[in-house]
Amino acid sequence: MSSAKEVVVIGAGIIGASIARHLTTAGARVTVVSESGAGGVATPNSFAWINASWGNPEVYFRLRARAMAEWKRLANELPGLPLAWCGGLCWDLPADKLETYAAEHSSWGYGIRRVDRAGAAGIEPNLAELPDFAVHVAEEGVAEPVAATKALLADAEQRGARIVSSTVMGLVQTGGRTTGVDTAHGLLAADEVVIAAGVGSPEIAATAGIRLPIEIPPGLIVYSRPYKKLLNGLVLAERLHMRQTAQGRIIAGSDFGGADPGMDAAATARELFAALQAMLRGGDGLELDFHTVGYRPTPIDGFPIIGRAEGMDGLYIAVTHSGITLAPAVGLFAAREILDGERDPLLAPYGLGRFAQ
Ligand SMILES: Cc1cc2nc3c(=O)[nH]c(=O)nc-3n(C[C@H](O)[C@H](O)[C@H](O)COP(=O)(O)OP(=O)(O)OC[C@H]3O[C@@H](n4cnc5c(N)ncnc54)[C@H](O)[C@@H]3O)c2cc1C
Repeated sequence: MSSAKEVVVIGAGIIGASIARHLTTAGARVTVVSESGAGGVATPNSFAWINASWGNPEVYFRLRARAMAEWKRLANELPGLPLAWCGGLCWDLPADKLETYAAEHSSWGYGIRRVDRAGAAGIEPNLAELPDFAVHVAEEGVAEPVAATKALLADAEQRGARIVSSTVMGLVQTGGRTTGVDTAHGLLAADEVVIAAGVGSPEIAATAGIRLPIEIPPGLIVYSRPYKKLLNGLVLAERLHMRQTAQGRIIAGSDFGGADPGMDAAATARELFAALQAMLRGGDGLELDFHTVGYRPTPIDGFPIIGRAEGMDGLYIAVTHSGITLAPAVGLFAAREILDGERDPLLAPYGLGRFAQ
């Protein structure tokens, strides 16, 4: 492994932080440049459910499941990382589809348990509405996204990474190779540049003539004031997804991507919060504290873009939705590919080149 490589990572969200942390662990000299603190418009506004749940093909399930395992590895390496393996109780699909999901994912090795009303009540005794049929996945969890990002950045810094607060205006190219970045505070030279700037990534890539096909759907999450413990884990119900944070806040979105804020985000938030209260025994005592509207960097086919930009040496791109789930695997795999040239087979479908066809 080339330990002397100088790498500039653009972005200090969960993705940039994980890549920086894994690069420094592997001995690279790293500079993180970001125009915000820990996280941009995605990480701080995330529901932050760590999962390999329904709706994805097996190949993507495998990447997600590996990422869940890599979170556990990171938690051993960084004691105090704010994660909770609280499990997820799910019935946000019609019963027949839920059964298909349970059968399929069980056969893939996901730890799904079917539960009836009594089983659901045992897992979440404060639910006012109970499903006749749900599934429970004990191995799902949550991260406190900003605190986890800060912990990764702090560890990278402790291992020698430099964090620079600035805006990247563009990539610097020399003879078909990316050799640095142009920031509001001057040039930063590098052997390798990583674009991990979330929704800001397409604009940066465009300065090297690279098109990143990304959509940025908004998502609204409501936050209660901190409250006594009402939830043990994640609840993924028909009408909303909710969980209780480490601070005791109940947070919810219409799904884990968050509600569409619509024309009047405050009104959408009040409506969602009322639905949340109705779902919980003791929910009357909850007070809406605030809501957030985040934007998730979502490649147009719904899958991550992770890998080298073809035809451009010295440039690596890591832009993805589900970034809270995927961050530790993305960080590990990106560091290996950048420093050793080894591309993990789990990343095979996720090169930018797929959009050229
Ligand atoms: C409402 C909502 C719910 C979600 N729920 C989940 C979930 O339950 N589970 C899950 O796994 N994922 C979820 N996600 C997705 C997940 O949060 C994102 O995939 C992840 O946070 C993306 O992280 P990021 O580091 O790429 O982006 P960001 O956190 O946005 O960070 C981008 C970084 O790039 C920097 N940057 C951007 N442009 C520039 C520039 N020109 N110069 C310098 N710096 C720049 C920013 O300052 C920031 O530091 C959710 C997202 C949202 C919005």
